[in-house]
Amino acid sequence: MAENISIHPKIDSGIQPAAKNFTGGVLVCKCATEPVEVAVKTQSAHNHACGCTKCWKPKGALFSMVAVVPRDKLSVTANANKLAVVDSNAAIQRHACKACGAHMYGRIENPKHPFYGLDFIHTELSPQSGWSPPEFAAFVSSIIESGTNPAQMGAVRARLRELGLEPYDCLSPALMDFIATHAAKASGVLRA
Ligand SMILES: [Zn+2]
Ligand SMILES: [Zn+2]
Repeated sequence: MAENISIHPKIDSGIQPAAKNFTGGVLVCKCATEPVEVAVKTQSAHNHACGCTKCWKPKGALFSMVAVVPRDKLSVTANANKLAVVDSNAAIQRHACKACGAHMYGRIENPKHPFYGLDFIHTELSPQSGWSPPEFAAFVSSIIESGTNPAQMGAVRARLRELGLEPYDCLSPALMDFIATHAAKASGVLRA
């Protein structure tokens, strides 16, 4: 039954490895005419499947696929006038196309945030292949908040493991350590 679970269309049929020496590409929204275009001049990092309720997901997918890039490597190159921030109160300001709904990039404006300096992107919006592949699944339990039957969670976690994506109910241990280290340095517990 596990193969009937759609984690994400770019993940369900197996994960493609990153291309060697990949230097980025363009993200294009779903509009048939005058699409928003975003240029990303670097390889993505920390790509993962995310089950949170805020990330943009393709129709029918249980998870989003989201990665980060340094914000200075990202620029909007066409139809920026179609972009609007989804929720200006959120830590991550998700800039979405008002016409098709695709989230083109998420930016953190609070310099004290542990991930300040990184923009969140969905590499599936790119016609180029070779982006870094998803490495784990984050906020897995949160898909219940989007309507997944809690009884299905065992099968969902089994399918993620089958695909090589270790399921976590927050972020991966490496990223949780990164956040905690940032907090410990900010409070002075840990010397910077
Ligand atoms: Zn659009
Ligand atoms: Zn998310």
